[in-house]
Amino acid sequence: MAEMVGPRLYSCCNCRNHVALHDDVISKSFQGRNGRAFLFSHAMNIVVGPKEDRQLMTGLHTVADVFCSDCRVVLGWKYERAYEETQKYKEGKFILEKSKIHHLTKEISVFAFCHINQWICSLHFLI
Ligand SMILES: [Zn+2]
Repeated sequence: MAEMVGPRLYSCCNCRNHVALHDDVISKSFQGRNGRAFLFSHAMNIVVGPKEDRQLMTGLHTVADVFCSDCRVVLGWKYERAYEETQKYKEGKFILEKSKIHHLTKEISVFAFCHINQWICSLHFLI
């Protein structure tokens, strides 16, 4: 059985910038704006936007949107502060939307998928 060598990564779907490590996934069962999202202990190559209070399903939180440092697409958000005691573990952690990131081990198929999406978009644009 061959083991994967090197760190497994998640990359931005739009520009393939490396944004998080597979080993930093805390939970895969979070809810993002557009479906499923992952909770990460760290993220890299990202830009954190201004803080704002947001009422989420699990209560009031101070969050900041997180952007890809390369293409500036919104990837998710960072939990700056949780007000509920049971949600404190999320402070300083990152939510990245599953639809915005891709596992690098599947990079080739993902790239093809993104590429086809762009192609369909440009096709729509032409029509
Ligand atoms: Zn990007």
